[in-house]
This record gives sequence, structure tokens and C-alpha cells, in this order.
Amino acid sequence: MDNLIKILRSFLEGGEDKALTENFIDLLRERVMPNLETMYEGGIKFENKRLIFPSPWESIYEGLRQIGFFSLFVPVEYGGSLTSEENIYFIMELLGYTCPSLGIIFVAHGRAVDLILAGNDEAQKAKFLPRLGEGDFGAIAITEEGAGSDVSAIEFSARPQGDNYIFNGQKIFVSNAGLAGIYTILVNTKGKRGARSLSAFVVEDELEGFRVEIFPEKDGLKILPTGKLIYENCVVPRENLIGGEGRGLLLALDAIDKGRILLAGIGCGIACRILDEVFNYSRKRIQFDHPLTSSQDISFKISDMYTQINAARGLCFHALKQVNTPYYRSASSQAKLFATQMVMNVAQMGQMIMGGRGYLKGNIISMLSGDARGMEYLEGTSSIQKMIISSELFKSYT
Ligand SMILES: Cc1cc2nc3c(=O)[nH]c(=O)nc-3n(C[C@H](O)[C@H](O)[C@H](O)COP(=O)(O)OP(=O)(O)OC[C@H]3O[C@@H](n4cnc5c(N)ncnc54)[C@H](O)[C@@H]3O)c2cc1C
Repeated sequence: MDNLIKILRSFLEGGEDKALTENFIDLLRERVMPNLETMYEGGIKFENKRLIFPSPWESIYEGLRQIGFFSLFVPVEYGGSLTSEENIYFIMELLGYTCPSLGIIFVAHGRAVDLILAGNDEAQKAKFLPRLGEGDFGAIAITEEGAGSDVSAIEFSARPQGDNYIFNGQKIFVSNAGLAGIYTILVNTKGKRGARSLSAFVVEDELEGFRVEIFPEKDGLKILPTGKLIYENCVVPRENLIGGEGRGLLLALDAIDKGRILLAGIGCGIACRILDEVFNYSRKRIQFDHPLTSSQDISFKISDMYTQINAARGLCFHALKQVNTPYYRSASSQAKLFATQMVMNVAQMGQMIMGGRGYLKGNIISMLSGDARGMEYLEGTSSIQKMIISSELFKSYT
């Protein structure tokens, strides 16, 4: 991890808050790194409608709360200590290196904060953001059975009734399902298909008629809770509507643009971890009387891995520089597209260099390969990123 920290600091050049990240790095070293295997083997269980994490989770969660980690996502005026996008990126790459599932938990958390930031002061920002800054988790729920890549097909029904809306519908694949206390959710308020029918709401987890079901086990990202949100005749106050009816998709897309860079960062972190593990293994593994690193084929594979990681990171830093410019959406999609494909390539090369051991369940490279594959689905698959990039490019030509 020391190498990665040096590289990231050289990219950030003073953009990082050192005091804050020192505490975070200590926590990663002492509580997260030594427990990754235990956490992934244990996985999450869902018993009596409660999530049960493997035992190291409580100490990690408490540690994060104590160092004020949650507050980094929330502006000062709402009780937080909002840090720069560069700093959040730095954190996400380190989480990718040490525990990718935890990184995604916080990407989802941050997206909920961003959506609420588009809301009104009293009933939304002042009410929910301090909680999210103190240690309540947030989530963002968009995907449905019939609306995956095509968000405009959302059917989840929210019908106005007096001062309330009545929610009926299901959201699937929601990261932090069952963990979050506060959900942001994209629903259909008009009853007809289309982007202009979509509205965003913030809802608490204690509504009557609301329940969570956890999905079957995933191929990777073992301690990321991913589940289904079910709402049946749930009464949601009108004051929970964010930014007005019909504005939901625009607001959600803005939040997701930010998330894509961070997912790309987690991908870079996973790839760095694979590179470190593979290098350490191959310089000790002797075949034909020599360490594997003395074979040109292996050392070339390692240099390819290293180069691809730096190329992906370059796109991430390029995207971070485009915040508040018209190129931001395309740049964050490019970073996500390239980094998630890169990490799958790196994982595949890494597994091959480890030989049969890299294919064993419980081996770190095989665990990280499962995580690497999961990165491609989140916040739009690679095909969806390509749609965004081409459409933004064509717009810029005309
Ligand atoms: C681990 C994990 C966490 C997730 N977390 C969240 C979350 O927190 N909140 C949330 O709302 N969702 C979440 N998702 C859902 C994720 O955003 C969706 O899985 C993703 O958007 C794809 O939708 P889908 O699975 O329905 O696939 P589909 O939309 O059915 O797509 C299937 C395949 O077809 C391709 N495809 C679709 N349309 C086209 C087209 N026009 N041209 C070319 N190719 C196309 C896709 O790229 C994909 O390869 C999560 C998913 C995973 C795996």
C-alpha cells in the first residue's frame, strides 16, 4: 500500500488533507487489510430481516465513525467536513486496494448525499445530511426489473394524494439495501413512460409498508449488501420530493457522473493490489531454477499491468479536472469505461501469473477477480458508458 500512497500523493500534489488521511490510512492498515479474507469468507447474511456482517465489520464501522469519515461527504453547514473530490478519489483508490466492497458502500452513500444536496433546506438537507455525516448510511435506488440500462422505463409508481405520495413498486440490485437508514429513490410520478415522468425522493427506512429482501450471493464484492426494496402502499410526505416533479433523472445523472470517477478509482485500487500481490509472488516462485520475474513473458505481463493502471488513473485525474465543465459527463464515463475494463484484464493476467493457485477459492487474486468483474455493472455497463461518450462527442461536433 505504501507504493500506492506515494503514487497518489504525487498525482494529487497538495490537494490532499494529510491529517485526515493519516487516520484513515492507519485504520486501513490495522483493521481492514488484516481482515479482508475473513470478511469475504464470512460474507453477509440476512436473518430475521437484519443484515449480519462478519465480525470485523463492527470495529471497522466504529473506527470510520470515530475518525469522522462519514462527515467527509457532507458540507460544513450541515455538520460535515466536506473534502475535495481529489481527496475522495484518493480514499476510494485506497479502499479499492484494501476492501473494494467497502469502497462501493461509500460510493453509494456519497450519491445519496449528492441527491439530497439538490433538495430544499429545511425538510431535506437540514434533516437528513447531519445524520449521513454522523454514521447513518445512504443509498441510491434506480434499477428495476424492467428498467436496468434503460432508466426511462422506470415504472415504480408514486401517486400524489393530498400532502403525500403513495409508493408502490420494487427496486432491485440496490447497494446498501438493509444497511442504509436513508434511501434516495427514482420513481414515476406521472404514470406514463419517459424521462420527464421521473422524480427523486428521499425516504427513511422506517416507513410502514416498506421492506428489504437481500439478493442471492454474488460472484464478488462479498460484503457489499445488494438487495431489493419493496414498497406497498407506503405513504411518503410530499416534502420528501427532491427538486420538483419530473426533475429526478437530471438530478440522478449528475450524482452518478461523480460516482463513475470514484468507481474507476476503486478499479485502479483493485488492480494495484493485484499487481503488488502478483509481483511479490512471482519473484519468490521458482520454476526452471529461476524466479518467475526473470522470464521475459512474466515481466512483460507485469509491465503491461502497470502501464494500464497508470493509463486508467490518468483518465481519472483528467475527469477530476473537468468538474463543472461541459466535458465532465463524458470524461467520467471514459474513466469508468477504461478502468473497469483495465481491472478485468489485470485480474486475468494476475490469475494466470499465479498459476493454479490464482484459481483457488479464497486466494486473494481470485477474490479480487470476482470484485473486478462486479465493477463493470455499477452505474451503467461498458456499453452504456460508450453510449454516453459517443452522444456527448457528437453533441460537441454539432
Ligand atoms: C454489484 C452491483 C451493485 C449495484 N448497485 C446498484 C445501486 O446501488 N443502485 C441501483 O439503482 N442499481 C444498482 N445496480 C444495478 C446496475 O446499475 C445494473 O445492473 C446495470 O445498470 C445494468 O442493468 P441490468 O442489470 O438490468 O442489465 P440490462 O439493462 O438488461 O443489460 C444487459 C446487457 O445488455 C447491454 N445493453 C442494454 N441495452 C443496450 C443497448 N441499447 N446497446 C448495447 N448494449 C445494451 C448491457 O450493457 C448489458 O451488457 C448494481 C448492480 C450490481 C451488479
